[in-house]
Amino acid sequence: MKKYDFIIAGGGMAGLSLAYYLNNSPLRDKSILILDREIKNQNDRTWCFWERGRSNPFEQIMCRCWETVAFNGPGLSKNLDMGGYYYKMMRGLDFYDFVRSNLQQNPNITFKQATVERIKDTPEGGFVITSDEPYLGNYVFDSTTALKLNLAQNHNLLQHFKGWVVETPQARFDPDVPMMMDFGIDQGGDCRFMYVLPFNSKKALVEYTLFNEALLEQGVYDAALKKYFENDLKIIDYQVSETEYGVIPMSDEAVERFVGKHVVKIGMSGGATKASTGYTFLRSQRDLQTMVKNLAEKGSPVVETPWLARRFKLYDSILLNVLENKRFPAAGVFAQLYKHNPPAQVFKFLDEDTTIAEEIRIFLTLPIGVFLKAAFAVLWRKL
Ligand SMILES: Cc1cc2nc3c(=O)[nH]c(=O)nc-3n(C[C@H](O)[C@H](O)[C@H](O)COP(=O)(O)OP(=O)(O)OC[C@H]3O[C@@H](n4cnc5c(N)ncnc54)[C@H](O)[C@@H]3O)c2cc1C
Repeated sequence: MKKYDFIIAGGGMAGLSLAYYLNNSPLRDKSILILDREIKNQNDRTWCFWERGRSNPFEQIMCRCWETVAFNGPGLSKNLDMGGYYYKMMRGLDFYDFVRSNLQQNPNITFKQATVERIKDTPEGGFVITSDEPYLGNYVFDSTTALKLNLAQNHNLLQHFKGWVVETPQARFDPDVPMMMDFGIDQGGDCRFMYVLPFNSKKALVEYTLFNEALLEQGVYDAALKKYFENDLKIIDYQVSETEYGVIPMSDEAVERFVGKHVVKIGMSGGATKASTGYTFLRSQRDLQTMVKNLAEKGSPVVETPWLARRFKLYDSILLNVLENKRFPAAGVFAQLYKHNPPAQVFKFLDEDTTIAEEIRIFLTLPIGVFLKAAFAVLWRKL
């Protein structure tokens, strides 16, 4: 059995990003095997995230980059200047193609299409059993394992959404301003908003997004989108050219990332999703860049979370507790956040880059009694 230096199980966002960073590091001569059951030749998702500056490693394949986003919620309906942040959009297929063409130039990197059946840590290395043949690696990076959610002990909401890429014969979208959250729709007693990402004035991805516990029938998402087009956007004449559907766990379940000496979980499987927002892309990039740096400099992929940084997990749990127990309408929480704080400060907070003093200033703009009750409930549950 051939032993690889690195086996990457799952060549999606996290797996390909890791391979890209390895290929652009002093470790580029190591042997790397990338396993995925799919060929990844479909545009299966669109990633958006905010970021300061224009120097993302994948900047050249961003299909849109905005300095302003719109928000519509109770008591606040306006365009938000991102104050130095950019809201960036990238198509999944552009990312897969770009990374693959970068990796294919390196003869030490092998792609195999196979289903991963089991990954095991052994004294000799990470052992991967696939539908094809078994493989051994000094390190196995796994993004194929779905999170197992423990409903009784943790806050586990689902962020689920369906989107239509729509084309119109006339210019109907403002290409300079995406709608980040439009809460002006029926809230159904939980958290529901529309999300509009314009490619240009005649083409946009419009997504119906919910944060709650139960997925809907596909027809229910479609009906909500149709209603939004007719009643809110006032667009009757349109063609749906693509659809997108996704479910992202919003969970404060602890994830064991370094599952053995030779096996590391990455991406969503490795807990890279921010529990309170569902954003995963940029957090994975930061994490994987640190992992490759540690591998190159120390020979270990372990990424430590500083003790004080763990407070952000507590904040996530508190927000999830507010949403799950319907302590305050979700639309109101987001409206208060953006009404009373500069948007850049909110993005910095959600990126976990703020200081404790900045966080206290943000907390004071929220319904403090509600959040304190949620904080007690979270701490009680943890105890
Ligand atoms: C439709 C959609 C839109 C999203 N939009 C955003 C967004 O705008 N911003 C954001 O930050 N996050 C977003 N996310 C969340 C997150 O960024 C993505 O899910 C991201 O792709 C997660 O990366 P990953 O590598 O963990 O998983 P994936 O990208 O799903 O990669 C996992 C790979 O493993 C392969 N695989 C799985 N099981 C096996 C197996 N047994 N054997 C072999 N291969 C296997 C899959 O084929 C896949 O290629 C979105 C998610 C979805 C589903």
